[in-house]
Amino acid sequence: MSTQKKPEITARRRFFTDTAHHAGLGLLGGLLWAGYADKARSSVLTLRPPAALPEADFLRTCIKCGLCAEACRNRDSNIDKETGKPRPETLKMAKADTDGVTVGTPYFVARDVPCYMCDDIPCVPACPTGALDEASVTNGEGELDFRKMDMGLAVVDTNSCIAFWGLQCDLCYRACPLMDEAIKLHYTRNSRTGKHAFLEPIVDMNVCTGCGLCEKACPTEKAAIFVLPREVALGRPGAHYVKGWDKKDQQRVGERKMENITTHDKRSEKKAADYLNDGVSYE
Ligand code: SF4
Ligand code: SF4
Ligand code: SF4
Repeated sequence: MSTQKKPEITARRRFFTDTAHHAGLGLLGGLLWAGYADKARSSVLTLRPPAALPEADFLRTCIKCGLCAEACRNRDSNIDKETGKPRPETLKMAKADTDGVTVGTPYFVARDVPCYMCDDIPCVPACPTGALDEASVTNGEGELDFRKMDMGLAVVDTNSCIAFWGLQCDLCYRACPLMDEAIKLHYTRNSRTGKHAFLEPIVDMNVCTGCGLCEKACPTEKAAIFVLPREVALGRPGAHYVKGWDKKDQQRVGERKMENITTHDKRSEKKAADYLNDGVSYE
């Protein structure tokens, strides 16, 4: 892990920002792209580069310059040691015929080329507008920290994951840069054979970065583990459910009480049996 405060990148970022502000490039770009954007709105399944702002803000902020994809393609770690040539880049810029991604915006398809979670995360400081938010991947020591990346969340389809059938496969587990943290293997006894164990991959949603290296490694015809944007992968219980054991939830409830908000009304005076028996007559 390394501190990456590159002066040339800061200068380049300033150049782009100033140019956009003073020459009205952002406005011009917005007009030019607005027509395309209508034709090709991004699917909710689109995976964005590390540290991308939430989708709506990202689309407002990204000027489609391609510097993130260029940094990804040209990173030192992308050179194939055997051929000396660059391998395919993770980040691509959507073209007019790219399905389901707003034209000109960066994205990646984990099953094709996942994010390699570079130590120095070169794509992020390359962004001149803050569409890739450097602060969100910077740790307390001011260093870029790939553990803070959040591109999505890996989800396991337990029906098609062959490890859940009892077959030996731990390829996703081994491919994960955060092995034993983002993916753990859960051992259970295989009662069908009586002598084998299931080694089921379990993803920790608080650690997984959504890099997709597990998806790339999965040997099933269609990956049994795959990355989805968190907004798609996760449910939302609603603010009225409270975890009695969670300090933050307790604090939230306390704050609501302070606002004099009450959930007590006439109906609260009834017991559950009153509702259940409502309208029922006993002869
Ligand atoms: S962190 Fe991922 S997206 Fe960024 S340069 Fe490295 S491989 Fe590319
Ligand atoms: S995310 Fe940043 S670097 Fe990438 S295309 Fe958009 S503005 Fe350019
Ligand atoms: S996407 Fe897969 S490989 Fe990447 S951190 Fe999450 S579990 Fe690990």
